[in-house]
Amino acid sequence: MNTFKSDNLFKEALRYIPGGVNSPVRAFKSVGSSPLFITKGIGSKIIDVDGNEFVDYIGSWGPHLFGHNPPFIKKAILDAIENGTSFGAPTELEVKIAKLISELVPSIEMVRMVNSGTEATMSAIRTARGYTGREKFIKFEGCYHGHADYFLIKAGSGALTLGIPTSPGVTKGNAADTLLADYNNIDSVKKLIKQNKNEIAAVIIEPIAGNMGVVRASDIFIKELRQICDQEKIVLIFDEVMTGFRVAQGGAQELFGIKPDLTTFGKIIGGGLPVGAFGGKKEIMEMVAPSGPVYQAGTLSGNPLAMAAGYAALSYIKNHSEIYTILEEKSAYLENGIKDNFKLLMKNYSLNRVGSMSTLFFVEEEVNSFKTAIKSDTVLYGKYFNEMLKRGIYLAPAQFEAAFISTEHSKEDLDKTIKANFESLSFINY
Ligand SMILES: *Cc1c(COP(=O)(O)O)cnc(C)c1O
Repeated sequence: MNTFKSDNLFKEALRYIPGGVNSPVRAFKSVGSSPLFITKGIGSKIIDVDGNEFVDYIGSWGPHLFGHNPPFIKKAILDAIENGTSFGAPTELEVKIAKLISELVPSIEMVRMVNSGTEATMSAIRTARGYTGREKFIKFEGCYHGHADYFLIKAGSGALTLGIPTSPGVTKGNAADTLLADYNNIDSVKKLIKQNKNEIAAVIIEPIAGNMGVVRASDIFIKELRQICDQEKIVLIFDEVMTGFRVAQGGAQELFGIKPDLTTFGKIIGGGLPVGAFGGKKEIMEMVAPSGPVYQAGTLSGNPLAMAAGYAALSYIKNHSEIYTILEEKSAYLENGIKDNFKLLMKNYSLNRVGSMSTLFFVEEEVNSFKTAIKSDTVLYGKYFNEMLKRGIYLAPAQFEAAFISTEHSKEDLDKTIKANFESLSFINY
């Protein structure tokens, strides 16, 4: 594989951008190689500056449920741009998208649009604190909720991959209000609540974690979490930035049949443009300015282009609920192919999957917590990643991430991936 142009661009990028990238995991650091510079995405494929083509399982880290540049989203953006790019004033589309979100996700009575998942989660926590008049909150080890200071404590995703789950620059004061519980372990939550009686504003969780690799919370765990939050008047926040509109029309909460008090969104909700949102119970959301005293604002929030892309994506989802069956079929096909390879190679790696998000862990035991996830052999993952890349398969350049399938992944793409998986696993285990 020729990567001449990418390598040169990366050298230049390193001079002007920290680590050469605008978001850490893009740098391929944990897999011991250097990043490819991408020029184009079409459907399930991406093409780099050297003309190499890949079947893409990153999908811009989650947003591309319909593959790259789907014609209906492209058209929506082009139509919107005719009228201007930003007004800083209300538009009709903002009302329509808010209404549509509340139709798709029944726990959402009111919603505020923001520009990223990070903004959504930090605003949700502030709102929960304002609503309860309490300061502490519980997060789970290995969950990632964006890069606000008080979330960067035992965080997942790039923070975990790069060995900085708790970041310098986060003050002791900021860290003090973040309480850490074990994923899928209700006793760890009960213990914290007991120790901090009437001081906890919120529990925030990825109901299906994607940022320590894919790890699903158990039904009983989520149910008990809901009960405890009700008893203790704690705001339960589902961070569905990744799972929202990915695992079902109504997100992970639809799969669990549990209504959180607040939900955060991002990724798919913007149709590939920078968007986030937080919403939930009217009583809580009315705390947000200007209807309430909790301040939250954004110069470009509800941006017309971003709303056009997001509205196109969500309308498509509303009118085509069959896509979740199609995604499940494609994803199951790939899972079965990979598991057949495991049998042939006599490997018993953990492959976790919920709908179209999955992670292959290089550990031969069930991964159902942060502690089991980090047992995965990340050196082996790095080798696997590079072998797959050579064979035209673009996976996340880090173990603790999800692989995403889009509606555009064809049987041919999946067969190519299964073949590459067999060859790569054989190669790295030789
Ligand atoms: C991606 C992600 C975020 C952060 O969203 P950004 O748009 O990157 O700020 C927060 N929570 C979860 C669960 C995510 O997957």
